Amino acid sequence: MELTGSIEEVRKQMKAWRKEGLSVGLVPTMGYLHEGHKSLIDRAVKENDKVVVSDFVNPIQFGVNEDLSTYPRDIEADKKLCESAGADLIFHPAPEEMYAPDFSTFVETEGVSAGLCGKTRPTHFRGVCTVVSKLFHIVMPDKAYFGEKDAQQLAVIRRMVRDLNMDIEIVGCPIVREEDGLAKSSRNTYLSGEERKAALVLSKAVFAGKEMMEQGERDVLKIVSHMKALISAEPLAKIDYVEMVDADSIEPISVAQGRVLTAMAVYIGTTRLIDNFIFTCS
Ligand code: AMP
Repeated sequence: MELTGSIEEVRKQMKAWRKEGLSVGLVPTMGYLHEGHKSLIDRAVKENDKVVVSDFVNPIQFGVNEDLSTYPRDIEADKKLCESAGADLIFHPAPEEMYAPDFSTFVETEGVSAGLCGKTRPTHFRGVCTVVSKLFHIVMPDKAYFGEKDAQQLAVIRRMVRDLNMDIEIVGCPIVREEDGLAKSSRNTYLSGEERKAALVLSKAVFAGKEMMEQGERDVLKIVSHMKALISAEPLAKIDYVEMVDADSIEPISVAQGRVLTAMAVYIGTTRLIDNFIFTCS
C-alpha cells in the first residue's frame, strides 16, 4: 500500500490503473479511522480492483468555533488499518495541497443541506460538497463509499452527484456501533468516562424510536417527543435537534410515510454527537 500527499502522484497512479482497465473505489474520510470507516473500506475492497482512502481533515467544513484544531489525528494508526483492510493507496494531503491561498470556488446544494445539521452548521455542507467534488476530480473513482452515520451528508452527496451529472456510483453503508449501541465516531474520543456513559442516550433514543415505528406508530410528534424525553432525562445531554424528515429531500414531515430519516444531534458536555435511523414505511 502506498501513501501520498501529492495530487499529481494520485493522478499518475489513477492513469496507470485506468490503462490496465482496473476499477477504482474511493472512501473519503477525515482520518482517525475506526471500525465504521473500515466497514466502508471492506465494502470498497470487495467491489473494486483498487481502493483509495482519502485521509484529510477538511478545514472548510468546520465552522469558526468548531473543533478543527483539536480534531484527532493519527496517520500511523490509519495506515495500519488501511493496509490490513486491503486498501491500495492513502491520499493524505496537506491543506495547502488542496487549497490555494486565493481559493474561491465552492460547490453548494440548496434545500437538502438547509435543515438538520445545516441549521447549526450553516457552512458545513458547502465545505463537504466542495472537498468531495475535488476528491472526485482528483481520483475519478467508479464508486465512492459513505456511511449512513452521516445520513444528511449522504443525501447531500447523492443530490450533488445527480444534479451535476457526476459519473460516480454513491454507495451508502450501514452505521457501525459499539457493543453497547453508541455509534462509532472519531469524536467519541473527546468524551470523559462519565460522558461516555451519558452518550448512550443517543442510541437508546434511536432504538426506542425505531421500535415505535416497527410497532406501527406513524405520528411524528409522538415519536419525536418520546425520543426527546429519553434524551432530556440525561443531565449531561443537551439536544441540538431531534427530527423526522424525508430521507432523500431532508424536508420535514408530520406523518411518517415512504423512506423516513429520524436524525438527532446532541451535545454531551461540549461534544456534539449525531445518530439516526432510516425506516421505510409500508
Ligand atoms: P469521517 O472521517 O467522520 O468524515 O467519516 C468518513 C466516512 O465514514 C463518512 O462517510 C462517515 O459517514 C463514515 N462513518 C463514520 N462513522 C461511521 C460509523 N460508525 N458507521 C458507518 N460509517 C461511518
